[in-house]
Formats: sequence, structure tokens, C-alpha cells
Amino acid sequence: MKIKPLLIIAIVVIGVLIFQFRNELFSGGHEPDNNNVSENITLVSDSSDSDNKQTQGDNMSDEKINKTEDEWKQKLSDEEYHVLREKGTEKPFTGKYNDFKEVGTFYCNACGNPVFKSTAKFESGCGWPSFFEAVNDESIVLTEDRSHGMIRTEVTCGKCDSHLGHVFDDGPPPTGKRYCINSVSLEFKDKNGESK
Ligand SMILES: [Zn+2]
Repeated sequence: MKIKPLLIIAIVVIGVLIFQFRNELFSGGHEPDNNNVSENITLVSDSSDSDNKQTQGDNMSDEKINKTEDEWKQKLSDEEYHVLREKGTEKPFTGKYNDFKEVGTFYCNACGNPVFKSTAKFESGCGWPSFFEAVNDESIVLTEDRSHGMIRTEVTCGKCDSHLGHVFDDGPPPTGKRYCINSVSLEFKDKNGESK
């Protein structure tokens, strides 16, 4: 009389255990579900990464500035427009930064993108402010320039494509480069942000 209830309880317990065990087996062996979960996690982290990059991009220099030439004409003086937008060249030894030794950063005079640091400036004697390196690889763009019967490498602003000058291979160590830049294309600011 007492064995039957015990048997029933035992059968129920075993049945529950098997049911749970099967559930575990089922979920454990259900690989597509697991993959979906990890894919979802990957997707979420990927999208947050790209969000971060986009946020950084808004603050950094990778975002291009596109103004019409009329807008540039309104923003810039005639001389600045001629050099920056028409690839002109200021007369040698006339630019305000040619013989200039203050410590700070030189920005693109059209858009304010930092392009050269005073620590990379050197006396080249060529008549234009000269630097042996740019702030970084993105701050400027180099393009072959075959104008005026010469093959030169033009230096333009990485952010607004304005003309800055040319780069030559006769600079000092460590780069051996001479970025020969128009003063008109630059705006100097010291560490306090004061323009000079
Ligand atoms: Zn610029």
C-alpha cells in the first residue's frame, strides 16, 4: 500500500528531472539560437563602435569642408583667395611667417584645420615658411602638380582642400622633407590660442 505512492512520486521526480535535463540538452544543443545571441551582441558592439567613430569624426579633421567659391570669396581677402583657392604663390621673403620663431601651431587660414607645428619649422632660406613634417597624415593632402612646366607635389589642406604650398625632398632630418608653405595660407596661434 505504501509502495505505490512512493513509486508514483519517484516516477514524477524522474519525469521532472528528465524533462529538465532535456530542456538543458535542448537549449545547449540548439546552436542557431546561441549564434543568434552572439551575433546580436557583436552587432550591438559594432554599431556602438561606429557611433563612437562618427562622434569623433564630427570633432576631428576627417570631415571635409565644402564651400562654394563664392562663399570662399566672401570669407577670404583677395590675396588669401588667390593663394588658397587659385593656387597662387606669395612673393618670397614677404610672408609674415617666413622669419617667425614663436612657439605654437599653424592652422589652415581658410578653415582653421591644424596643419603644422612650430616645432617642425626650420630656416630653409627659400623665402617661405618651411616645415619638415605636418601635424599628422590627415592634416594635409599631397597631389602631383605638373603646372608651370615643373613636376612638384602640391600640399593642400586635408579638411577644405585649400592650397597651402609644395613639398620637396631637400629638407632636414628626420623626414628629409621641406614643406614650403605660403604665409597667407596659414594662421598662427600660440598655446593660449592667440593669433599672431
Ligand atoms: Zn583648410
